[in-house]
Amino acid sequence: MSNYVIEIGSQPSLPVAGSDKRFPVGRIYCVGRNYADHAREMGHDPDREPPFFFMKPANSIVQNHATLGYPVGTKDVHHEIEMVVAIGKGGKNIAVEKALSHVWGYGVGLDMTRRDIQGEAKKQGRPWEMGKAFDESAPVTALRPASEIGHPAKGAITLKVNGQVKQTGDLAMQIWSVPEQISHLSHLITLQAGDLIFSGTPAGVGPVKAGDKLEGHVDGVGDLIISYRS
Ligand code: MN
Repeated sequence: MSNYVIEIGSQPSLPVAGSDKRFPVGRIYCVGRNYADHAREMGHDPDREPPFFFMKPANSIVQNHATLGYPVGTKDVHHEIEMVVAIGKGGKNIAVEKALSHVWGYGVGLDMTRRDIQGEAKKQGRPWEMGKAFDESAPVTALRPASEIGHPAKGAITLKVNGQVKQTGDLAMQIWSVPEQISHLSHLITLQAGDLIFSGTPAGVGPVKAGDKLEGHVDGVGDLIISYRS
């Protein structure tokens, strides 16, 4: 029996591929504009910006193969396909050379974005929060342990909508590598086991409509399939 005055939802988690075990999700950090071609398509100069981070709540996680309703409060939801890094060991002020020892594994995720709300926030100089951190905004595949697949630093990252390729890139095109992301972030907050890092999206982001089927892929990591109800 707990001493809490109310009950809240259960611990958000993701399956571990090929296992009946699950990875408990703590906090979700996302890297902004981490592929040069995407930074350019959003109207920014990729060469002069250090990495920056925003968050989604852990309970915005959606399991692979889910069918979702179109998000509320928006008429312009965008897909952003990303590799997701799962932190297995916390720490602060982590050196780039030591960073990969903090990674438990990897998945494929979608940083779903209410682009109209985000755009208005940018224009007004307000937080992005309501553009990024909403219900069901973080679909992620089962995670694969680094002990099995290693630490992917190159390989295709793609997204199809209704069978048509919309986003293509390569992990090697990341402006800030996974070890650099971990190091930067750990100088801003204390990373904790269970944290996820969405590592940025390549060019080709665009709108999703009711009835669309999204198929994301990262070489050697997995395939994410999400549908929106028509
Ligand atoms: Mn993103």
